[in-house]
Amino acid sequence: MDRQKEFVLRTLEERDIHFVRLWFTDVLGYLKSVAIAPAELEGAFEEGIGFDGSAIEGFARVSEADTVAKPDASTFQILPWASSKGHQHSARMFCDIAMPDGSPSWADSRHVLRRQLNRAGDLGFSCYVHPEIEFFLLKNLPQDGSPPQPADDGGYFDQAVHESAPNFRRHAIDALESMGISVEFSHHEGAPGQQEIDLRYADALSMADNVMTFRYVVKEVAIEEGVRASFMPKPFTDQPGSAMHTHMSLFEGDANAFHDPDDPLQLSATGKAFIAGILAHANEISAVTNQWVNSYKRLIHGGEAPTAASWGPSNRSALVRVPMYTPNKASSRRVEIRSPDSACNPYLAFAVLLAAGLRGIEKNYELPPEAEDDVWSLTSAERRAMGYKELPGNLDEALREMERSELVAEALGEHVFEFFLRNKRAEWENYRSRVTPYELEAYLGL
Ligand code: GLU
Ligand code: MG
Ligand code: MG
Repeated sequence: MDRQKEFVLRTLEERDIHFVRLWFTDVLGYLKSVAIAPAELEGAFEEGIGFDGSAIEGFARVSEADTVAKPDASTFQILPWASSKGHQHSARMFCDIAMPDGSPSWADSRHVLRRQLNRAGDLGFSCYVHPEIEFFLLKNLPQDGSPPQPADDGGYFDQAVHESAPNFRRHAIDALESMGISVEFSHHEGAPGQQEIDLRYADALSMADNVMTFRYVVKEVAIEEGVRASFMPKPFTDQPGSAMHTHMSLFEGDANAFHDPDDPLQLSATGKAFIAGILAHANEISAVTNQWVNSYKRLIHGGEAPTAASWGPSNRSALVRVPMYTPNKASSRRVEIRSPDSACNPYLAFAVLLAAGLRGIEKNYELPPEAEDDVWSLTSAERRAMGYKELPGNLDEALREMERSELVAEALGEHVFEFFLRNKRAEWENYRSRVTPYELEAYLGL
């Protein structure tokens, strides 16, 4: 048995841990968990744990229901909470999902991302990611469609005075750090109740695992503090939504492939081609980075969200930004993609972003001129004249773009691609067929 597995088994014994949760992610980005007793773990490392894949969104069809979860020992962490009885802790590991014959499952989000990382590897690159994750703290999560109440009345960078959860950020960060997830910054975001926590960069697969852990930890800590957390992309009509700005860089060995000291933006030809790839394929990948009906309520003018496929050095209305905080530090040269929202499946989102960027590099796409204007202040005719493509305005448009995309089909693999389109088409039809409060307000007098 390898050293990591031995370490896990030894730690369980030393820390007297009675509960090990095996985590994985369904195609829509929901975290799934099956708990096993430590005595079962040795077997789980060898053979995996069988479960009924047909009961998980996007997994096997019923005829091939037997699916196997194989814990990845390198992801072992002790959860920061003790049970109230006996102060016992539990631990978690992420799993890779396999078919009964041991081959990786095509429905496994981790596998989708790993395939794309292998493609990057074939071109000599490793991929690093750091996300800025925005979310809301709310006093409640009403189930009847009425608006929730924000947990504070703060704004951007405020030390809010009326907070229902004054210790939330400190406790959330302590919990994340205790699980090996480093936090770089945290602050109050623009809307009442809105928070942002930025994670320190990691390789893309670990970061996708970290994002899943982050959502879980943040929700748990919020409950402990007497409030609730929501990663819904846009809970309030009159307030900005919650983005997951995604910073990416490619390294060749120890060298940042996006850095060029002789370029005015210190951005290499590789970095430029990567951005060109993101811009060229922005519309096709949108259904994955912004997967819910509600996601498109965020991508409107104002609220600092992108609406068109443009880029600029520090242009906050652009889809891709090249942050200039530390321009001379070679290792931190990166691109920031501003469209993803906090409710995406991070594995699939990183996979399609990487696929688009790599396509730009492989095919040597040319980077269009940078956006000089505030893209939000232009009319759509002006934006078209300047060559900016509008991002999809709703989930339906995004799905139509995705359906035609050979790039996304290839990146997700046929199984996830087909499932995703079917599931999201049904979501759109469900939404489209409903009469909304807006319509009653506007039209009942007709
Ligand atoms: N909340 C904004 C959005 O939805 C982003 C704010 C920021 O620039 O950090 O995109
Ligand atoms: Mg922000
Ligand atoms: Mg940002």
